[in-house]
Amino acid sequence: MGQKKCPHCQQWSDWNQDIEDTCEHCGKKLSLMEIQRNQKREEERIANEQKWMFYIQKSDPPFMVFLKKAGNLFYTVFMAIMTFLLWLIAALPG
Ligand SMILES: [Zn+2]
Repeated sequence: MGQKKCPHCQQWSDWNQDIEDTCEHCGKKLSLMEIQRNQKREEERIANEQKWMFYIQKSDPPFMVFLKKAGNLFYTVFMAIMTFLLWLIAALPG
């Protein structure tokens, strides 16, 4: 149990260290900053995936979905092999 200053009404409210806790005065989320930060991180993660991988869109025709899935599989296997090679080089003596 603790207390946290509400970002909406600037009053101190009881807080259970939970990101979903709400203010006892105005009923809004106490962890607005944390929630926004989480959302931003999630958006960046998705943006990164779309940049690196063949992102499958709902409007893609079936053959494009197949090609992109094959591309993603190839990419994943390629990265796994590269990781293994790097590990091998690092593990070799000298
Ligand atoms: Zn409040």
